[in-house]
Amino acid sequence: MLTIRRDTAVYAMSPENVPVARVQDGEMLVFETADCFGGQIVKDTDRMGALDWSRINPATGPVFICGAQPGDTLKVEILKIELAEQAATVEAPGEGITGLGAEEESTKILPVVNGKVVFNDRIALEVNPMIGVIGTAPADESIATGTPSFHGGNMDCKRIGAGSVLYLPVNVEGALLAMGDLHAVMGDGEVCVCGAEIAGSVTVRVSVVKGQPLPLPFLVTKEHAMAIYSAEGLDASAQGATLRMRAFLIDCAGLPAHEAGMLLSLAGDLRICQVVDPNKTCRMELPLSLLEKLGFCFP
Ligand code: CA
Ligand code: CA
Repeated sequence: MLTIRRDTAVYAMSPENVPVARVQDGEMLVFETADCFGGQIVKDTDRMGALDWSRINPATGPVFICGAQPGDTLKVEILKIELAEQAATVEAPGEGITGLGAEEESTKILPVVNGKVVFNDRIALEVNPMIGVIGTAPADESIATGTPSFHGGNMDCKRIGAGSVLYLPVNVEGALLAMGDLHAVMGDGEVCVCGAEIAGSVTVRVSVVKGQPLPLPFLVTKEHAMAIYSAEGLDASAQGATLRMRAFLIDCAGLPAHEAGMLLSLAGDLRICQVVDPNKTCRMELPLSLLEKLGFCFP
């Protein structure tokens, strides 16, 4: 199986990026990824303020998927996520939300042992490996890997883990898929500005779906389907995720318009992915069991 090395990283999703590999429609491959700090934080005394910011948020790739044409959908099945042996998290004044209360920079190295993130001598958290940054190239602009938008990017959605299927827009020939910024675990919101930041590798299968039969980006997990939306403000991202899911229920799942909104209000969960990136990200989740009752099948 093809492996894309982490030293291929890009720092923007761009149509100008030169693909580092080409794969066939339906092929499996592995992306090795650096952590969001570019491996610069390895001990408790390493400080965020001393980082080389040109090395922040590397995304491995991009990969050219043969047959992907603008207007298509890229289906990314996330098959496996393997993590390095330790993660890092930081807090600093002015960063994220908790940084509004922080008085000094601090760093915590988090060993990952037997499927748990060791937080301190009393608390160990079950790992929930997820991909923070994953996206395709925009058609005619360059978007920094730290920014989430219509192309995916730094969505920091904790549902993007092994067993999920992410649908992304194809904006340029070959799609130019890149990813990075794994988290061993992260809470919704990512309130201190980062999760348990960690290097690792991601095994995926990439397939081309002709046209765009879903609102994108769209994620399907074992239990839920969700529209993911990023915008400058949290209100706008909440509205976007909800209206995308409403449109999905009407246009794709065949519900009458008034029932789509009602169903989301009764059975949908509007959740925050992150509130700390240049755009904020929300998702509107609906149980898959309801879509099965509507007879909807994902491409
Ligand atoms: Ca991130
Ligand atoms: Ca991160």
